[in-house]
Amino acid sequence: MPSTPKSEQDWKKKLTKEQYHILREKGTEQAFTGKYHDSKEKGMYVCAGCGEKLFSSDSKFDSRSGWPSFYAPTAKDKIESKSDFSFLMKRTEVMCSKCKGHLGHVFNDGPKPTGKRFCINSASLNFKKK
Ligand code: FE
Repeated sequence: MPSTPKSEQDWKKKLTKEQYHILREKGTEQAFTGKYHDSKEKGMYVCAGCGEKLFSSDSKFDSRSGWPSFYAPTAKDKIESKSDFSFLMKRTEVMCSKCKGHLGHVFNDGPKPTGKRFCINSASLNFKKK
């Protein structure tokens, strides 16, 4: 397991500019530009910040939103959520509970079995092929 940086300086060293902007400054990548929105490969999506296993490809679905979308994390306690009122919308932000990196948002219009849509930035994830 890669170590989790302690200071923002260390995060800047570890992450690319885009990863830093999204994970640490709660940015959002443009739809359809990320590397995973269209991927159907089998494997595990881990946090780009700390390496924690967050989403299995088994829970990935095609939301046509332009961001990788999952109906559930690997375990509930891997994800922290928080109300987000930015851009005059009430949304629920989701973060990696281990390193507190911003991942994206969760919505209630997902498929069965959870009805949830975890809408995640590709830049917040790394993929480990099975
Ligand atoms: Fe993390």
